[in-house]
Amino acid sequence: MKAVCVFTGSSFGADKAFEEAARSLGAAIAKRGFTLVYGGASVGLMGAVADSALAEGGEVIGVLPKALADLELAHTGLTELKIVDSMHARKTAMADAADAFVSLPGGLGTLEETFEVWTWTQLGVHAKPLGFVNVNGYYEGLLTFLDHAVASGFVKQKHKELALVDADPDALLEALAKTDVSYEPKWIDRQNR
Ligand code: AMP
Repeated sequence: MKAVCVFTGSSFGADKAFEEAARSLGAAIAKRGFTLVYGGASVGLMGAVADSALAEGGEVIGVLPKALADLELAHTGLTELKIVDSMHARKTAMADAADAFVSLPGGLGTLEETFEVWTWTQLGVHAKPLGFVNVNGYYEGLLTFLDHAVASGFVKQKHKELALVDADPDALLEALAKTDVSYEPKWIDRQNR
């Protein structure tokens, strides 16, 4: 594992612990010698992850669509800032540059990006591990819903478990680095219907 892509909020959220987790994840990525890949903004938890990785001497690559460069205040101190044409190009560039994905607390953008790379692993588009930093149980409700999706026959337990979960950012990085993703075909009931 050389590069880790982080998805997280462009806001700070309501709990001070979210920012602390973002700062410790950024620092841990740099201390382990990994490159941080993220959305390139200077605001919210996104900015906090980047700042803490840079402060530890880490390499940080940001990928920002042109239309968001002003809105999300492009981070000007990165090792590299790639400006791309669209949201889709942004996600493709981030996914291509990373070997693993970590989701800190965040909003719709964070969830959308996380589910996309999760489904790409499920479909075998790539074989890259992912995980949630479950700060103060932020992702509990989502994980409970996914248990419901498994029980309802729409998601395989193995695909749900592709996403590792840990409250501690460095422990999550350690687990991701040891994870070898094997492809499990998605289609649950092709033989029966
Ligand atoms: P949020 O979690 O909503 O604060 O958003 C976090 C990041 O996700 C921000 O940089 C958003 O621009 C980005 N984002 C939101 N929607 C999308 C999308 N459809 N594709 C790519 N990035 C997105």
